[in-house]
Amino acid sequence: MLELTPKKYKERQALRINPAKTCQPVGAMYAALGIRQCMPHSHGSQGCCSYHRTFLTRHFKEPVIATTSSFTEGASVFGGGSNLKTAVKNIFEIYKPRVIAVHTTCLSETIGDDIPTIIGQLENVPEGKFVIHTNTPSYVGSHITGYSNMVKSMISYFSKNTGQPNGKICVISGFVNPGDMKEIKRILKIMNIDFIMFPDTSGVLDSPMTGNFEMYPKGGTTVEEIQDAGNCSDVLGLGAAAASAGVRQLNKKCKVKEHILELPIGIEATDAFISKLSEISGKDVPEEIETERGQLVDIMIDAHPYYDKKTAAIYGDPDTVLGLAEFCFSLGMQPKYLITGTPDPSFETKGKELFDKFGAKDGFVKHAADLFELHQRLKNDKVDLLIGGTHGKQIARAENIPFLRMGFPILDRYVHPYMPMVGYRGAMRILELMLNVLMDKREADTADEDFELVM
Ligand code: SF4
Repeated sequence: MLELTPKKYKERQALRINPAKTCQPVGAMYAALGIRQCMPHSHGSQGCCSYHRTFLTRHFKEPVIATTSSFTEGASVFGGGSNLKTAVKNIFEIYKPRVIAVHTTCLSETIGDDIPTIIGQLENVPEGKFVIHTNTPSYVGSHITGYSNMVKSMISYFSKNTGQPNGKICVISGFVNPGDMKEIKRILKIMNIDFIMFPDTSGVLDSPMTGNFEMYPKGGTTVEEIQDAGNCSDVLGLGAAAASAGVRQLNKKCKVKEHILELPIGIEATDAFISKLSEISGKDVPEEIETERGQLVDIMIDAHPYYDKKTAAIYGDPDTVLGLAEFCFSLGMQPKYLITGTPDPSFETKGKELFDKFGAKDGFVKHAADLFELHQRLKNDKVDLLIGGTHGKQIARAENIPFLRMGFPILDRYVHPYMPMVGYRGAMRILELMLNVLMDKREADTADEDFELVM
């Protein structure tokens, strides 16, 4: 399908082909689903909302709820204020959420709708219920920007420092699956740390089949918890691109001490996460966590011959790509290309630091890039493994490269939303999946006379 992609690369400024990102509201919608009993609301036309819901549903394999201001030609000319007011009244009456989290779209941003003023004029917000908003023009940033903006808005609207410390640590989760959020909470519980984490989509987008439809499953962070986040001693952001805006806002608004870490993907970043938790809480690392780390190291050593010195191209969201790259390097692999579609110059700085740290001389790192460019570069200098979301599958097929689906979005496989890639257990899972694709390829390329039961 992509065999005709030309080898010769030309610098492009105004055109993206097969972008390694999606639009801001997708991230804002996902973050909003991490609040308990929250209805994400798309202030724009129905098409945007349908696209964003479909995108998330395809990745999470769950029905993703959201409402829309349903712009028509009239709203496009005169503004969407009356649509939003009618929508809020209807949503509270019909769907009965605790929170409506409004995000904008390209159209409402281009018109210039003043959402805070419109929200201030709302007359139908029931007692104890809330309407919050964030601006998510999709011609800026990516879904990661939208996620980050919505998290920051949660803090701006809800978090308060009441002067009564709650003895808890606040964790702002990066743009990861419900399985990752569950794993982060499991680690915090094993370490016996009192915490507030948001957004938290575990229990929302990984809910079980019960035979009954629940519009608001039991998961998600409550409004009261987000309010109380302002009374935490420290806030940890997991993933600079997705979480740092929220961390800084909590520090600025409530004077909570800030710490921004990389997403705990792989052994080094998880070590840093566990060490930071231990340092802040003053608690020792429990044996259970040390055992998991030891198991990971054991697997890394056992399987070493199959991944050692393998080259890789990794694309996707900035925090995920950097985490996966560091893990690959620490395994003895050689990541060559690091690509994100999200505009984020610090991604290039950090990528270069990683190449320097592990002595990789010919590494290529680029933000605001696309998969067409990655494909062209791979045509000139192939790798042993391609790692990223589903949009790279045609490249893997055209170039006959083993393909590890990891990150967002994964549209053509199942189970991934439930499983972690963070923590030591997440690293074990990455390793298992990676070894499977590498060893499958090796077997497929092996002649009959050399095809053994044990490789
Ligand atoms: S118009 Fe903008 S917000 Fe709507 S789907 Fe397209 S990029 Fe996303």
